[in-house]
Amino acid sequence: MKMMKPWLADHIPSDRADRVHQIVSRCLAAPLVASAMALGICIAPGQERATPLPPTELAGLRWTNAFFPDATYRAAVPTGESLLGYPIGQRAANSTEIEKCLKAWAAAAPDRARLVEYARTYEDRPLHYLIVTAPKNLSRLEEIKSGTAKLEDPRKFSEAEAKKLIETLVPVAWLGYTIHGDETEGSDAALAVLYHLIAAENADVTRLLEDVMVIIDPLQNPDGRDRFLKMIAENRGTTPNVDDQSLQHTGYDARGRGNHYFFDLNRDPLFGVHPETRGRMNAVARWNPVLVVDAHGMGPQETHLFSPPREPVNLHFPASDAQWGRLFARDQAAAFDRHGLVYYHGEWNEGWYPGYTDAWPVFRGAVGILYEQARIAEDGVRRPEGRILSYRESVFHHVIGSMANLKTVQSNGKKLLEHFYHIRQRACAADGPYAKRTFAVLPTANRSRLDKFIKLSQLHGFEMFQAGSEFTAAGATDQLGREVKDRKIPAGTILIPNRQPLGHLVAAALEFDTRIPVKALEDERQEILRNGGSRIYDTTAWNLTMMFGLEALTLPMELPDVAQPYKPADRAETGVVGEVEAPVAYAIDGADDSSVTGAARLMERGLQVRAAEKAFEFDGQKFARGSVVITRLDNRNFTGDLRATVDATARELRLRAVAISSGLGEGDLPDLGGEHFKRLEPPRIALLSRGGSSPLALGEVWFFLDHELGIRHARLNVEGSPDLSRYNVVVVPERFGGPLPGSWTNRLKDWVRAGGTLIAMGNSAAQFAEEKADLSKVRVLPDVLNKLGDYELAVFREWLARDGELPPADAVWSHKALPGLKYPWQAIDGAHAEEKELKKRDAWLNLFMPQGALVAARVDAKHWLTFGCEEPLPVLALRNPVLMAAEGVEVPVRLGYLSKVEGKPDDNANADAKDKSDSSDKKDADKKEKKEPPRVGWSALPPGTEMHLRMSGLLWPEATHRLANSAYVTREPVGRGQVILFATRPTFRAATLGPARMMLNAMIYGPGYGAAQPIRP
Ligand SMILES: [Zn+2]
Repeated sequence: MKMMKPWLADHIPSDRADRVHQIVSRCLAAPLVASAMALGICIAPGQERATPLPPTELAGLRWTNAFFPDATYRAAVPTGESLLGYPIGQRAANSTEIEKCLKAWAAAAPDRARLVEYARTYEDRPLHYLIVTAPKNLSRLEEIKSGTAKLEDPRKFSEAEAKKLIETLVPVAWLGYTIHGDETEGSDAALAVLYHLIAAENADVTRLLEDVMVIIDPLQNPDGRDRFLKMIAENRGTTPNVDDQSLQHTGYDARGRGNHYFFDLNRDPLFGVHPETRGRMNAVARWNPVLVVDAHGMGPQETHLFSPPREPVNLHFPASDAQWGRLFARDQAAAFDRHGLVYYHGEWNEGWYPGYTDAWPVFRGAVGILYEQARIAEDGVRRPEGRILSYRESVFHHVIGSMANLKTVQSNGKKLLEHFYHIRQRACAADGPYAKRTFAVLPTANRSRLDKFIKLSQLHGFEMFQAGSEFTAAGATDQLGREVKDRKIPAGTILIPNRQPLGHLVAAALEFDTRIPVKALEDERQEILRNGGSRIYDTTAWNLTMMFGLEALTLPMELPDVAQPYKPADRAETGVVGEVEAPVAYAIDGADDSSVTGAARLMERGLQVRAAEKAFEFDGQKFARGSVVITRLDNRNFTGDLRATVDATARELRLRAVAISSGLGEGDLPDLGGEHFKRLEPPRIALLSRGGSSPLALGEVWFFLDHELGIRHARLNVEGSPDLSRYNVVVVPERFGGPLPGSWTNRLKDWVRAGGTLIAMGNSAAQFAEEKADLSKVRVLPDVLNKLGDYELAVFREWLARDGELPPADAVWSHKALPGLKYPWQAIDGAHAEEKELKKRDAWLNLFMPQGALVAARVDAKHWLTFGCEEPLPVLALRNPVLMAAEGVEVPVRLGYLSKVEGKPDDNANADAKDKSDSSDKKDADKKEKKEPPRVGWSALPPGTEMHLRMSGLLWPEATHRLANSAYVTREPVGRGQVILFATRPTFRAATLGPARMMLNAMIYGPGYGAAQPIRP
């Protein structure tokens, strides 16, 4: 590609009108022509088309340098230009164009390239990687693969054998591009690098391919990219645009960053939710690359960034990774220097979160590298110094980095393979960092949730075991950091030893409480105090068992003798079970998250369904609260086959639906005809979208509706004014673009009062909690600093209602009316500070709100919203509003897990703290000053209790004092309907499965449980 055709030249030549005409035709009219031709419609030659005015001159837009000026190419391999109709990098190629190139090149160069489709997106676009290497390597792909697979497990052979094996292997370098679909340059750079590697005849390339097996994944997010390219196309005009604020550079919501459901795929490798990620994780595990590159784009006025990241770097990154990072960076910097380009590393880019695309392979033994290039959507972008950075030059910067990294792999291939082996050897060492530590995930009746965890662990490649029988573990630690003495670990417990080849990854994903080192913590605190913002780029907590809401322990031991390799249990029979000829009902256990799906799908299939608000027992079988019940009587008018419909629904969800012969409950447990089996109202769900809604938040709910529930629903455009009376559930996700318009809040208010279930989260919840919204009694903390006593009393009352002790019997049964009654608030014995002081305090505490920490919540086990939830419930706390709820509002979940202080019922923390500063003189003085009692934030702890809040991640004490006792979810009746508010996104990354269960309960059970449902006459 020595000659470049300029798209738009600095000085437009005399044929400019034709040129411009061609461009506009290609850009705007070509799709129309193509579709007309496809329909067999002829377009007459010379047909009239609009001829735009030629663009005026724009100095510096032209960047026509060859990417590889000294290369000569094999004629048999078609050029990018011949395939695309424009030179590679001149504009962003869409996924179809990219696929066309990959297929053509793989077909034209079978000696160097092999194309593999590794996954399909939700929109049915293929994801590909192309293996490019010398013919001699390509002919023994299987051998290279099985060789590196052997290196995966150093327990099976000696160091000397490993060295011998490494001599026979070729290192694999994996380059992935454009996981954020609107950071488009990466994919075009991938095409440039691919063509060069596949077609170049130069000796440096053929040698590189002999020494390295290159795998290029040119487009990691095709759905996002094509969504964004459509935005560019529809905003394209007749003249080049170099203003980075213009729509054709910015796009509009949801832009192209996320995949079909707007998820950020560059956070997904930890949770493996999406097919793009799962396919890639499997492929990376299959080829065991020693280098994984993830090429991104950043702000258009930036320069270029590459790895390594600054501190904090995840503690489970292998120690030797840092020096490799520096080595790659030196070579990459030298390559940029040769072109006179500037770049940086570190600064905002830290390395704490382990779920980035370039981080996940590091735990497996690869070197991970991030690129961030100043992002330009097309044409070019004017920079402050007046220079224009063109799209094609921006593409070139990724080319420079890619080639530099490949050369570093080439020069260090064997050493990188040794690095891969040594990391795994270290993870397996009996005296290594991961010895004598096993993670135990306890059995649960929530089978579908445990299955999700097991599948994810398998995707990560963890070796898993299961306790064949009960055993005792001394010194186990629970998820609240408490030592559990001689805990009996039941049979069936999943056991994941930390000492295994993927020990680093196991530790990164499962260690309960990975703590940021002191220096980075100091920097973080100073940054907060200096500039009011965090230096941490993502959440500081991600522990998989906590995210999933599964109870787990850390055992300070190797695998116990009773451990057996994990085998998926033959799932007990699914579908309708029980030899009952004419059952009165079928029951599905509510402990399982999939029971909600069962209820939703049964209702969609036309059945009448109930959900039990209490645990029950029929025919000697126990069912948890929230269990789903389908009675024969309710479904007398059902025209289909009741048993077959229940059976099919249960089977598709791998659930059991137990046929019940008698509706007489065991003992005092509910009977079938009583009030505890509430009839559900089929939900008609609308999810507010667009118009400033957060794509992440609404995408998560949408994903759950589609993939967890699989039921019909509507996504409504906030910019319109649809008829809300069609729906009985409306979900308002968090918003990026300011509050929901007033017209919507007014309509929603009327709709709720008429019987709707309104569910809002995060800042949308805060909007409904404003007094002026006139919809909810919930408030945000800064708005109620003058009446904290009311909220403190609500905390006490809730606790007493749940676990309070009886007054002394003589007082209860006394015939005399005795003076001296005790009030709960007297235990607090002191006022809150003045409002002015409280405001000052709250502003201070607010500085320290978490970037994402897992905190323990307490659960009202009698509330329908908490079906399937147990305490302590892990909840992800973010920089979200602090919700306050008192009288008139139910709080199914509050932050702060309360437990009784063992053995000292009267000796609570408050009393302790008070007694310590005691002398009677001082007491009198305190009274005069109205001294405050010891509180956590705005509430004292109920007598005889202690509170656990932080489970994992960075939660400053200041944030603890702001969040403790605040509401995580609230529910209140409003007119004939109800309002349910979540403090944060309950479906965060589709991974916070405890809160997500409440979201499912809210959407599916809400209309039946919380809102009045009229009998239709
Ligand atoms: Zn990105």
